[in-house]
Amino acid sequence: MQEKKKEGLIRHVGFSFHSTPEELEEILNAHPQVEFVQLQINYADWENPAVQSRQCYETARRHGKPVIIMEPVKGGMLATPPESVAEILKMAEPEHSVASWAVRFAADLEGVITVLSGMSNIAQMKDNLSYMKEFHGLADSQKETLAQAQEELKKIPLIPCTTCNYCAKVCPMNIGISGSFTAMNYLTLYRDRGMAKHQEEWLVGGHGQKHADECIKCGKCEEACPQHIKIRENLEKVKESLLCHAV
Ligand code: SF4
Ligand code: SF4
Repeated sequence: MQEKKKEGLIRHVGFSFHSTPEELEEILNAHPQVEFVQLQINYADWENPAVQSRQCYETARRHGKPVIIMEPVKGGMLATPPESVAEILKMAEPEHSVASWAVRFAADLEGVITVLSGMSNIAQMKDNLSYMKEFHGLADSQKETLAQAQEELKKIPLIPCTTCNYCAKVCPMNIGISGSFTAMNYLTLYRDRGMAKHQEEWLVGGHGQKHADECIKCGKCEEACPQHIKIRENLEKVKESLLCHAV
């Protein structure tokens, strides 16, 4: 890429990133010439241990890298967040769409050069343009509204899996435990079974692991889990909710 840059075929070199802040740190230390980083950032994943948006963002900024944001609306999910969250946003600004809060949260972060928002139709594009054309940042009261929305999200009972994958190291069946739980949390939050099922297929089967219904209930994973999660019980729920239902 650096050669192509010298030839004038590439103007700026950067990369999109889907892993831990530790790994990002390592990459940026090894490749200081990189000019930007593209990260998955949205207000729902800001402190999500499975995504670590905030820590990845802070790592990129510590290295002085401009950030491009992907998934600001979390694949469209933050256009229809849990009802209690939507209520907070609607009450604060009835004239603005719920999705607009997600895009504005991303655009407000210091050092962001672009927010990539996938749009499926002209109405969504018009909505995006209505508040981003002359966006000058969020007011303190708007930041407070988003903080309330984040707090509301935290009240929704999720499986507290941090995707540390210690369990995976001891599971004799190679069950995709953390992937199953990420998909289950997705279902709890966004009630979209089709998407959650798709996520489970990708995170588990797509990574060469076995599905929750192949667990032999030996319990070894629970001894290794620092979060003391009742893994067997939760895998049963995954089985019932994501593996037994036709979509
Ligand atoms: S209980 Fe299931 S998931 Fe846990 S280690 Fe045993 S086979 Fe793997
Ligand atoms: S050990 Fe516990 S917290 Fe870590 S990935 Fe497994 S279930 Fe999640």
